[in-house]
Amino acid sequence: MRIPPLDLVTEYHSIKTEIDEAVHAVLESGDFINSSNVAAFESEAAGYLGVEHAVGCGNGSDALLLALMALNVGPGDCVITTTQSFFATAGSIARLGATPVFADIDPATFTLDPADLPRAESRAGGMVKAVIPVHLYGQCADMDPILQYAHDRGWAVIEDTAQAFGATYKGMRAGTIGDIGTFSFFPTKNLGCYGDGGMAATRDDHLADRIRILRVHGARRKYFSEVVGINSRLDELQAAVLRVKLRHLDSWIANKRLLAGVYDDGFRALSDFVQPPVVAPGNVHTYHQYTIRVRDGCRDALQRYLANQGIASTVYYPQLLHLQQCFVALGYHTGDMPHAEQALGEILSLPVWPAMRKGDVHAVLDEVMAFFEEFPGGGCA
Ligand SMILES: *Cc1c(COP(=O)(O)O)cnc(C)c1O
Repeated sequence: MRIPPLDLVTEYHSIKTEIDEAVHAVLESGDFINSSNVAAFESEAAGYLGVEHAVGCGNGSDALLLALMALNVGPGDCVITTTQSFFATAGSIARLGATPVFADIDPATFTLDPADLPRAESRAGGMVKAVIPVHLYGQCADMDPILQYAHDRGWAVIEDTAQAFGATYKGMRAGTIGDIGTFSFFPTKNLGCYGDGGMAATRDDHLADRIRILRVHGARRKYFSEVVGINSRLDELQAAVLRVKLRHLDSWIANKRLLAGVYDDGFRALSDFVQPPVVAPGNVHTYHQYTIRVRDGCRDALQRYLANQGIASTVYYPQLLHLQQCFVALGYHTGDMPHAEQALGEILSLPVWPAMRKGDVHAVLDEVMAFFEEFPGGGCA
């Protein structure tokens, strides 16, 4: 048996004719950067999200950087974010000379806990300019209380939507609820291209205009820079791929939700050992990851056992942001983020991808079951 974390080759084969045609058309056009496919994808993505502006860029990390640049975040400023995320969420803040200020997670959903915002605020040494909730593993952070807390204080809200293209929160699309939403099209994401790609979405004309020029060296008119920007462009080949894949996204998410249901049902028999993902009320989860919590110190042993059976599983992420070596000077310590630190040793993401078969989910469940039969009293350590 071999069950990978996801299977992009099978996915490509399922849309091969459309993809091959789209890619060939770009090659024949001789137009490779910021041309018709980028413009068309931006308008199709904006339409899908129900937002005024979508601006393509080089990757999801740059989308965060561009969003913060558009908000004039710089040295002396603070930006609050969650400690449980991919590095780029905090790296983008630090790269601009601003200070990331970390908050703990809601232990049920793993997303930024709005109740921890006051503690983060009091920890911030400078002026807080923005907060970046992350829609981790494919479901939205609890946006209403975050927006209220932020907007009461004049902070902007950037939604890191790299893992949640297509998710909804109380009927609104992830990435359109705050001031700017940022997206990654890294191949493994919900909507992924065949290389690097990213995007920022916003309802705000001024912010969209800023992001649009910041991605091309601050130049509205080529070679005439109004502000200092960066080079971060989505290319035509990736945009052409994304246009094809966007048409399939809803059915792919629906498939993953079905598979997640199969996992959920299976884990009911293992409720003493495994906590399946908790979907907060008002959320439609897209299962970018199907992330369980494993009790009794059994996570690492379970992961090794599954690997021996040919089943891939992953820990996203093995280090929290407040404990990263590069942020030692910020002065955080173990114990500062108790919910995230507890989750760190328990989380495990199991295989899930749109074309995965139910039989494969059952095979994973059977192996998890077999593992816990060896430890009937619990306690692996
Ligand atoms: C993937 C990811 C990013 C960065 O996206 P890249 O396209 O790899 O630069 C940022 N934030 C989160 C939460 C991500 O998962």
